[in-house]
Amino acid sequence: MRRCAKCGKKAQVFLPQHRLSLCGEHYIEWFENRVERTIREFRMFSRWDKILVAVSGGKDSLSLWQALIKLGYDADGFHINLGIGNYSEMSNQIALKFACKVGRTLHELHLAKEVMPVPDFRDYDKRPACSLCGTLKRYYMNKVAKELGYSVVATGHNLDDESAVLFSNALSWNIEYLERQYPVLPEENGFVKKVKPLCKVSEKESALYAVLSGIEYVEDECPMAQGATTIDYKLYLSQLEEKMPGIKLRFYSEFLRKLYPILKTQEQKAKLQKCKVCGEPSISDICSVCKLKIKISSRKYIHDQHGE
Ligand code: SF4
Ligand code: ZN
Ligand code: ZN
Repeated sequence: MRRCAKCGKKAQVFLPQHRLSLCGEHYIEWFENRVERTIREFRMFSRWDKILVAVSGGKDSLSLWQALIKLGYDADGFHINLGIGNYSEMSNQIALKFACKVGRTLHELHLAKEVMPVPDFRDYDKRPACSLCGTLKRYYMNKVAKELGYSVVATGHNLDDESAVLFSNALSWNIEYLERQYPVLPEENGFVKKVKPLCKVSEKESALYAVLSGIEYVEDECPMAQGATTIDYKLYLSQLEEKMPGIKLRFYSEFLRKLYPILKTQEQKAKLQKCKVCGEPSISDICSVCKLKIKISSRKYIHDQHGE
């Protein structure tokens, strides 16, 4: 029987890459310490910052929110209801329930009211729904954080997410994306600071923290995620991890330590201007979200005129 390395009680968790067995209570402590160390290592924020956590209702975002609150940070939540049927309704309810439990504010935005529900995009735009959904989430996170006076936006991207994206970008040596693959993006040009405090904990570790902390979360994957290539990359990396515990963390951490500083010195930042419609940062006169909204309203207008 494995015993907790801290107190000698029966271990509930074994972390192969750290060769560490822990009981539930000490696992929770280990996880929170790891998040705190990551926040400090990358100078993400301090206890004086107002943090807005992007809360989907899944294990990562709720684990992050809970850990930040327990570590004494001033963290509220922001949930975007994507309008994806039952999945979105359930996610919204769970996020609200959690906010009530921890006694913090959850700001909500309904995409159906602001633009349209994610599944309807396919009638208006050829881009994959996930690409548009990602653009809209980033746009509203930034806009709402600024409007409500938050200095930092924190997202629940974990080590599996980051290493899968890194793997994908490295396969095509996509320098432009690699240059931006850092767990902190500074406040500049109309963007608030964005951070990923879970970048060094795996999906399994984050799920364990949620379960052992009694957090209720949405277990289903978003139904629109099916077929995304990052799912395959995650699977390959997890297979590798089974044979070589710690490989994911090494792949990601060594990129940050060795390659990122070199790329950073050569980074060419895109010239940004203010969108003429909404004032948010944009590479062209009108930002992609406003362009989409214009397209949708003009199509609706034509549709109404023809009475179809
Ligand atoms: Fe949005 Fe795609 Fe993620 Fe679903 S899987 S939340 S549609 S980006
Ligand atoms: Zn213990
Ligand atoms: Zn705009």
